[in-house]
Amino acid sequence: MKAVVVGGGLGGVTAAVALRHVGWEVEVLERAPEFGEVGAGVGVMPNAMRALAALGLADDVRRIGTPRVAGAIRDPRGRTLTRVDASRQDRVVAVHRADLHRVLRSALPPECLVTDAEVRSLDDLDADLVVAADGIRSRARQALFPTLPQSVYAGATAWRSVTTARFPLDLGLSQTLGPGTEFGVLPLGDGRVCWYAATVASAGGRSADEWGEVRRLVGDWHDPIPALLDATPPETVLRHDIHELAAPLPTYVRGRVALLGDAAHAMTPYLGQGACMAIEDAVVLAAACARAADVPTALAEYDRQRRPRTQRMAKASRVLGRVGHQLRNPVAVTMRDAAMRAVPASVGSARAAKFLAWTPPSLSPVG
Ligand SMILES: Cc1cc2nc3c(=O)[nH]c(=O)nc-3n(C[C@H](O)[C@H](O)[C@H](O)COP(=O)(O)OP(=O)(O)OC[C@H]3O[C@@H](n4cnc5c(N)ncnc54)[C@H](O)[C@@H]3O)c2cc1C
Repeated sequence: MKAVVVGGGLGGVTAAVALRHVGWEVEVLERAPEFGEVGAGVGVMPNAMRALAALGLADDVRRIGTPRVAGAIRDPRGRTLTRVDASRQDRVVAVHRADLHRVLRSALPPECLVTDAEVRSLDDLDADLVVAADGIRSRARQALFPTLPQSVYAGATAWRSVTTARFPLDLGLSQTLGPGTEFGVLPLGDGRVCWYAATVASAGGRSADEWGEVRRLVGDWHDPIPALLDATPPETVLRHDIHELAAPLPTYVRGRVALLGDAAHAMTPYLGQGACMAIEDAVVLAAACARAADVPTALAEYDRQRRPRTQRMAKASRVLGRVGHQLRNPVAVTMRDAAMRAVPASVGSARAAKFLAWTPPSLSPVG
């Protein structure tokens, strides 16, 4: 059986690894001239780590990520609003996106990765299964659901980069919430630190000095935020407006096509689960293909398992943004901060645990 994967982002490449794992022939078609990822970090959550473990890649990912970290949410003066349960947080692995992509690619024979290969029509592809992993602006989604609304601006813009200087290895994962703005820290295992800033803004804004924009927003926040910015070459700062799917899709499959990752469920990044959901999708799709009698049955099972979970995640992420950095009214911010201090950390962790508790299905064929 042969699958063609459209799009070689984290979702598409994981799908290729997972489908090969269950014995499929796979080809990944990527429109860019090279495979790779943007220069930013991603937190691989415990749920996605379990999916990667099912593919035999968890140890490789741990090797390129943060060894052990605890986490906290703070206000701009550095006062702790809540701590994130350390034992659970230990299992979030912060990695550079390019390193994660390289680990995934290394599990594939080079000949199945094709660059400069923009797919214009799914009909022309010679495959039993087409995995449309072509991202938030998915052409495949538009072709399959031409009357549905596609992606919309989520009201915030984000900057991301990685320091060149190395910081102490005990620096924890952290998030700092200020009025209308947040700053997040993802320390890598080698001491470099990935960071992001998000702020409420109109769509399409750009500056000749994006580093200066971040400095203006958070340059007087608590340590080590100013030092992280000082250790970041200004030209490496990336800015992306945050978009999400305008409305949940009624199905992730049509005919022999499965939508996967952002193509199926583009969500805001506030739960740090967009790429993690794509990784889960990949393993569930491969498991369904391994176990079902035919492709339509496999795709029905994939849709049944993935749509409720990913659409709940997208909704929770949107809500978190509203009560997180999108709050700007000082009274509302003070009340939110007081509530976070008052609620025991274990309550927040228990809520998050519901999402993190996912385990992957077996990749073995039945019988
Ligand atoms: C600021 C920010 C921070 C984030 N932080 C996190 C985080 O910490 N944790 C997390 O899990 N997620 C995070 N996310 C979300 C995560 O980045 C995405 O969910 C994830 O990258 C989606 O992967 P994908 O493979 O589905 O799509 P993409 O990464 O968009 O890949 C799609 C690929 O398809 C290719 N393509 C498109 N059209 C075609 C075509 N017609 N033919 C061939 N190729 C095509 C593109 O070139 C691209 O390589 C964040 C997102 C943002 C914006």
